Amino acid sequence: MISNTKQQRGAIGKALLVLLALLAAGALWLYLDKEAAQGLKREAETRSMEVIGAVATKRLAGDAGEETHGSAVDLIKRPIEIREVADNVHYATGVSNTIMISTSEGNVLFDTGLVLQSAMQLRLLKKEVSDAPLRYIVLSHSHADHIGGTRFWASAETDIIAHQNFKEEQRYLAELQPYQYGRNRTLFPWMPAWEDRPDIEMMRYGGIEPTITVDDWKTYDFTLGDTQFQVIGVPGAEGADNIVLWLPQQKILVAGDFFGPQFPQFPNIFTMRGEKIRKPIEYITSLEKLMALEPRIIIPSHLDPTVGAEVIQAGMQRIRDAVQYVHDETIAGMNAGKNVNELMQEIKLPPELELVQNHGKVDWAVKTIWEYYMGWFHFDSTTQLYPVPATDVYADLAKVTGNAGLLSLAQNYLAQGEPVKALHITEIALAGSPQNRGALALRQQALEILLQRAEDGLRNDYEIYWLKSQLAESPQALEAKGL
Ligand SMILES: [Zn+2]
Repeated sequence: MISNTKQQRGAIGKALLVLLALLAAGALWLYLDKEAAQGLKREAETRSMEVIGAVATKRLAGDAGEETHGSAVDLIKRPIEIREVADNVHYATGVSNTIMISTSEGNVLFDTGLVLQSAMQLRLLKKEVSDAPLRYIVLSHSHADHIGGTRFWASAETDIIAHQNFKEEQRYLAELQPYQYGRNRTLFPWMPAWEDRPDIEMMRYGGIEPTITVDDWKTYDFTLGDTQFQVIGVPGAEGADNIVLWLPQQKILVAGDFFGPQFPQFPNIFTMRGEKIRKPIEYITSLEKLMALEPRIIIPSHLDPTVGAEVIQAGMQRIRDAVQYVHDETIAGMNAGKNVNELMQEIKLPPELELVQNHGKVDWAVKTIWEYYMGWFHFDSTTQLYPVPATDVYADLAKVTGNAGLLSLAQNYLAQGEPVKALHITEIALAGSPQNRGALALRQQALEILLQRAEDGLRNDYEIYWLKSQLAESPQALEAKGL
């Protein structure tokens, strides 16, 4: 595994060297006119990105990725190819889709994919669909997997349409990138390490300047060739800067991440990856606006389109009602004096509103709604007011209690089917003696039970990624790999 990674690093390094050589030769470009020079530079960067992207994908397809990350690997292993939705609507697949709408007066692009894949998406769309001038790029939101190729695609004649809040979302995501990168990489270990990430201009985050912005629940309408376009601001979904694209003549909704990667599914009102909190009632308002359009086809920015007006309407209604239900039950429980953990355990979707929870998760939504309205202090433990968490006394507690007692307690909890309680106890024991084999083994068992339950139950991707990341770091796992 180690040598494998080294080889791939080597390949990425090689691609970078080629790029650097080209950039160093940049002085030669001074002899060309400015436009030609820029064209060449862009061409070189695009080619390098394609090589880097291919290497990264190969790394994932290898067994290292397979072992640790089931569905994330499925996404990255998705071949990049062109699919047709209608004569004038195509998309390039990948971790994120890049959607192209062609008209007689040029093209409109919706989202520009993951930076590692965008160069190849660009080449295929231009070759297989249309090389006409790109007039508009519509960016569904500021997440890195939706804006990655914007710099490859945009030229002086391209308008970039984004939400009014796009710049502010980019600002905070860029400012917090070093921290957030680490969190994301825990969940998606196929990302290169921070210090190994190829740092070339085109990959840098931020700095995209929309030329047209759309505010919450407002629209921006334009016509190109014979095609009408309507960009709609729909806050509340993946971030505070969501927009969708509506093609009224064909009743096609290009939805970005508004619904998540699958349709229908319980939305990710909160992402445990960590971000600003999302707003449930705004989400419902946005969803109602989209329901009124009666779409016939939904094209998401991940995975494949959903076709059929009835299926779509029923799905949207169910999502709407499910979010409303979870919201209202949380409020009712808070008013009845229940605490957040009780509500997380109690609130379940009724059978008629059942939805898959592999993206959004109902109990995490309950916690989000609670904290969205009331913030971090839950009015139950005085200790929450001070920066001295329970973990600060674990080591002393372990000394007083002794390991034998703690380990048998953890063992009992496991036997009673309470792996989270067992984890609490192993955390106390490990605070006292971090290398204790017995505590490490029990921790491992508890994590394995939780993972099994997650896989047999709701199959929430993020819960599974997290548990796998914890198991991958366990001393037993490292030992088994000979590390
Ligand atoms: Zn996305």
